Amino acid sequence: MKVTTDSKCRMCTETDETMNHLVAGCQKLAATEYLERHNKVAAALHLEICRHYGIPTAEQHPWLHRPETVNETDRVKILWDFEVRTDKVITARRPDIIVVDKQEKTAKIIDVAIPLDKNIRGKEAEKTQKYQDLKLEIQKLWDVKAKVIPIVIGALGAVSTSLERHLQRAPGEHDMRKLMKQAILGSAHILRRVLDLPGSGRFYRSKPGSGVTVNNAAMSQFGKFESVSMKQMQALFQTNFFGTARITQEIVTHMKKRKSGHIIFVSLILGLRPLPFADFYVATKFALEGLVGSLAPVLRCFNISVTSVEPGPVNTSMADNLEINGQGLSPLQHAESSSSEDETDALLKTFLEKYFPVFLSHEESKLLVAEVIKDCIYQANPPVRIQPGDSIRKLAREILIDHTGNKNTDDLSEIKASCIKPIFGTPTGGGQTAPRCCKGTVPPTGGQHSTSFFRLRREAS
Ligand SMILES: [Zn+2]
Repeated sequence: MKVTTDSKCRMCTETDETMNHLVAGCQKLAATEYLERHNKVAAALHLEICRHYGIPTAEQHPWLHRPETVNETDRVKILWDFEVRTDKVITARRPDIIVVDKQEKTAKIIDVAIPLDKNIRGKEAEKTQKYQDLKLEIQKLWDVKAKVIPIVIGALGAVSTSLERHLQRAPGEHDMRKLMKQAILGSAHILRRVLDLPGSGRFYRSKPGSGVTVNNAAMSQFGKFESVSMKQMQALFQTNFFGTARITQEIVTHMKKRKSGHIIFVSLILGLRPLPFADFYVATKFALEGLVGSLAPVLRCFNISVTSVEPGPVNTSMADNLEINGQGLSPLQHAESSSSEDETDALLKTFLEKYFPVFLSHEESKLLVAEVIKDCIYQANPPVRIQPGDSIRKLAREILIDHTGNKNTDDLSEIKASCIKPIFGTPTGGGQTAPRCCKGTVPPTGGQHSTSFFRLRREAS
C-alpha cells in the first residue's frame, strides 16, 4: 500500500482524503468498491421483488443474493442489469431492474444510486430524467404502462422524503431502514478497507498472515490410472496439497497470534464428486477438502475463517493445458489417435467424447469465481464451503446434506466451549486453574464420532 505523507487521497492522489471523497467521490474506487455497494443494495431490492412474485432464490440473505439476468413466470418478467433493445437510439437503456407485470400490464424501471448525502435530491431527479426515453419506448414496444422508480440513498444514509413513496411503487415489501443500513454498511466497509484499519482484512493489506489468504495453486492430471508415474503423482500432491498445506501452516501461526484472518482455498467440485480418469487430481482435491473441513472448527476458535471455494470447470487456461498423463497429447488428440484395441483406451475415448463435454458444460466464468471469493471476504461469517455457480451448487446439494459445511463446523466448534477460557481469558470458578490448552478435550480415539463425543463430554461435566 502506498504510504502518503500529505493530505491527498491514498487511492487517487488527486483530491483531499476526506470522508466524503472516500465514500462517494474517488474515481479509483468507482468501478470496484462503489459498484459493489450499489449492487448489494440493488440485489436486496431484487430479492424482495422475487419474493413478492413467489420466485424461488438460491439464497435468502440479501448479502448473498446474486440476481439472475432474467426471471420469468406466467405472471411476471424480472430483468436484472439488462440492456433493452429499442427501435430508437437511446443511451440509457440498462437500468438495474425492470419488472414487467404481465397481469397488470405495467413495467417498473428501477435504478439505484448511492451518491454523497448532499446530492440525493439531484440524483433522484437525474435518474428519473435519464430513463424517460426508455420508459416511452417500453410503453410502445411492450404495450404496458411504464414508470421510472429512482432508489437513491446517500452513502452515509441520508434519504429524501420521496424515497418511501418510490419504494411503495416498487413491487414487494421494501424496508427503507434495511436498505439504508445496507448502504451505510457498504460505506463503512469501504472506509475500513481503504484506510487499512484492523479487521478490514483484504487487498490493501500486505503483512503476511494479517488478513486474507487465497490458496489457488493447482495442476491437473487426466488419463489411465495405471500409466501415472510415481513422479507425476508426487508432483500433483506436492503442488495441489503439500504446497498449500505448508503455506497454510505458516500463515495460521501469524493469524492465531492476531486472532483474526480468513484462509480461502480454491478447490473444485471434484473435491466432492469424483471424475473418471482424473484419479490422482481428484484425490488431491479430496485431500484438500479433508484438510479444510478439519481445520475450520479449530481455527474458528481463534476467530479465523476457512472457506473452500468449489466451482465446476472454470474458463481458465487449465483445460487447454490438460494433457493425457504427461504424454503431450490433449484429451481430444488422445481420443482421435487412440486405437480401440485396448479396453481402457476405448473407455477413455468414449468418456472423452460423451461424458467429458457434459462436465465441461457446467463451465463457470473466472469472473464469477473471483466475485464469489470477494463476496465471501466481506461476510462476517463466511461459509466453510461455497459453490459459485447455480448448477454446481445444486450438484453439491445432491451430494451433501450440508453443502455449506457450516453444520459440521458448528458441531465441531463445541470444542471452543470446552476451552474458551484457557484460550481467550482468565479461568474462573473453584479457585482451580483451568488447563492452558485443549488438552483433555481431544477425543480419546480417532474413530469416535465427533458429535457423540461432545454429547458424552457434556453429560460427564
Ligand atoms: Zn481518491
